[in-house]
Amino acid sequence: ESADDVQSFQFDAIGVIESPYQEKFAIPRQPNLVSAAKGRIMLTGLANNSELVRDIEQFSHLWVIFVFHGTQDQGWKPLVRPPRLGGNVKTGVLATRSTFRPNPIGMSVVKLDNVVTNKQQTILHISGLDLLNGTPIVDIKPYVPYSDAITDANAGFAQEQPDTSLTVIFSEQMQADLIKYEQDDCDLALLIEQVLKQDPRPAYKRGRADDKVYGMSLYNLNIQWQVIALDTILVLNMTQVD
Ligand code: SAM
Repeated sequence: ESADDVQSFQFDAIGVIESPYQEKFAIPRQPNLVSAAKGRIMLTGLANNSELVRDIEQFSHLWVIFVFHGTQDQGWKPLVRPPRLGGNVKTGVLATRSTFRPNPIGMSVVKLDNVVTNKQQTILHISGLDLLNGTPIVDIKPYVPYSDAITDANAGFAQEQPDTSLTVIFSEQMQADLIKYEQDDCDLALLIEQVLKQDPRPAYKRGRADDKVYGMSLYNLNIQWQVIALDTILVLNMTQVD
């Protein structure tokens, strides 16, 4: 056995994520910032068997270990520019949660809402996710607060929860669109508000005037919005993509 054999690993996905987030833009930068985001983990292959998740409902939260499949082809560099530092300070990649890592592996704590098995498909309903639709899952573990939650930990430049003091308002057109495109099982107005309160714009635009009209997609909807004052986002309208 060569040294390479023990230092290189191959894993099969055990599931795939269904998420309202269809593109990277506007996905929250960490889980649990947008509680209205609901998704599903569809177990796949040999893992699509309800025995693997027996008793998992006892846990309110799960660690989801996944592959950054949307950016893995873009490689990585030892230094990255975290948005939390305004995007203009370089930090060691392993001192950040950047998607561009030596191994494109992510980990998110999500809320487990429900476990459903139907038509030979085992499904974990989750919320608070920060994951792109179609994200491959390589592992799931229960979140165990007595060990995983270190409430007095130092988190350097990421100590404080990001600012969410922006006000989000809906135009009359948007209020009509919210009724027209109502989704089952999702409070769309709340989801859009929580997503926009994170200020999805590039870090350098924070706190700056900006007359650009931005588009973001959630489910099959394209939502247009604009920053109309330093502290206010106006959601203009919403259209269906397909
Ligand atoms: N909580 C995870 C972690 O710490 O490993 C992910 C943090 S990462 C900063 C979150 C960002 O990853 C999201 O805002 C989104 O832009 C991006 N993202 C989510 N799913 C992805 C995927 N499957 N491929 C590439 N990028 C993804």
